[in-house]
Amino acid sequence: MLYKDFEEFFPNDAAAIAYFINIQYPDGMVCPHCGEKHLLYQELGKPKHYACKRCNNHFSVMRGTIFENSSTSMRMWFYAINAKLNGKKGISGRQLQRETGVTYKCAWRMLKLIRTAMGYEQERKMFEAIAEIGEMYWVENHQKTKT
Ligand SMILES: [Zn+2]
Repeated sequence: MLYKDFEEFFPNDAAAIAYFINIQYPDGMVCPHCGEKHLLYQELGKPKHYACKRCNNHFSVMRGTIFENSSTSMRMWFYAINAKLNGKKGISGRQLQRETGVTYKCAWRMLKLIRTAMGYEQERKMFEAIAEIGEMYWVENHQKTKT
C-alpha cells in the first residue's frame, strides 16, 4: 500500500485520528481525570484534544502513546506502522523518507519509537489494528468498483 493510498483512505488527519480513537478506546472514551464517559467533547479545530464537561479536564486522545508529543500527522504514523508490520523486512528510515517525503531524521525517529512500542502489549495490539488498514482499503475499493 502506498502513502498516497493512505491519503485517499483518510481524506484528512482528523479522519485518521477518528480511526485511532476507535481502536484505542473500543469501549468508548473515558475522562482520565474523573472517569466521565458521556460529557466529553472534541475541542473545536483540535481533533486530538478532548475536554470533559463534568470536571473541565482537557486531555489528548493520544495520551500515553508514542503519538502524544508528535507533530507528525497520523496518516504518516499509520503508514510507517503499516509498512513496518506488513513488509517482510519492515521498512528502513531511508525508504520511509523516500516514500513519504519526511526528513530522514523524522523517519528514523518514528521507526525507533515504533520498534520500542512493539515491546508493550497494549501498543502492539493498537499497531496490529493499524496494520489492518491496508486490507480494509482494498475491501472498500473493491466495493466501490462493484457499485
Ligand atoms: Zn472529567
